[in-house]
Amino acid sequence: MPPFEGKTYSLYSDSHSTTETTDEYFNTIKRLADLCLQKYAGNEKNLLAQLQKESKKKKLIGKLLAKSEDNAFFNRIKKTLKTSLSIYTKEVKNHLKHMSIFERFDSTLRTTEEQYHLYMLEIELVNRIYKHAFKSCTYKFALLPHCLRDFRLTCLSAPGDIEHTCKGCTKECYIHLAGKLLKKYNIDPYISVRMDQDKLLKEVKAKHQSVGVLGIACIPELARGMRLSIRLGIPPIGIPLDANRCARWMGKAYENSINLKALEELISQESSRK
Ligand code: SF4
Repeated sequence: MPPFEGKTYSLYSDSHSTTETTDEYFNTIKRLADLCLQKYAGNEKNLLAQLQKESKKKKLIGKLLAKSEDNAFFNRIKKTLKTSLSIYTKEVKNHLKHMSIFERFDSTLRTTEEQYHLYMLEIELVNRIYKHAFKSCTYKFALLPHCLRDFRLTCLSAPGDIEHTCKGCTKECYIHLAGKLLKKYNIDPYISVRMDQDKLLKEVKAKHQSVGVLGIACIPELARGMRLSIRLGIPPIGIPLDANRCARWMGKAYENSINLKALEELISQESSRK
């Protein structure tokens, strides 16, 4: 059981500890978002747009543009992110060094350490910006990754109206635990198995006038999913997996976890998160 090591990242700063939770990561990212919002107070969407541009920028172009005031600000932010978040992304460089030619065609697998840090901040900002819009939607659903299931037994999940649904065959399964929590807050949980998320989101939006989505995925996939949802006019919120351990990353799927406390803080009305 956790703490888990991921292929490139783990939100457990010390994956060899037996008692640690990922709470410290969530406190750190909250503090970093507060810091950035001091400069962009009331203009959070502009900060988000700038951050998204930063994570797409090639290093050389970034250096050439580094002279403007905004670029100087983002260069400072990137340095601060590196100092605070590198502890969670220790394996990225090693992974990038040993990628096969085939793997290099996959932009998710090619994610650099700097991009991880920017995505971490982006996810936190999206949560803050879209949380109220998400909560006021009349229909809310969540997409949970299959790799969160209990690997010790055969998963009994079956196709449902949107995606697969959990049958609750074991109380220790993270999908079951997260699903119970989500239902408590009127969010329908589904296990994500379809590859075409664009089509899936469009189908759900066509059925429900007012719909919000909660995503749980590895960091690069969650950031991409949130961007897609925003583009489609669906308010997103989300929580990153504690590590990246599915077959896409590891060649074989390994059990994984999420921070249930952070999930409840995000979806509860009484949340103290900004
Ligand atoms: S509790 Fe649900 S998701 Fe977990 S193994 Fe059982 S059916 Fe699958």
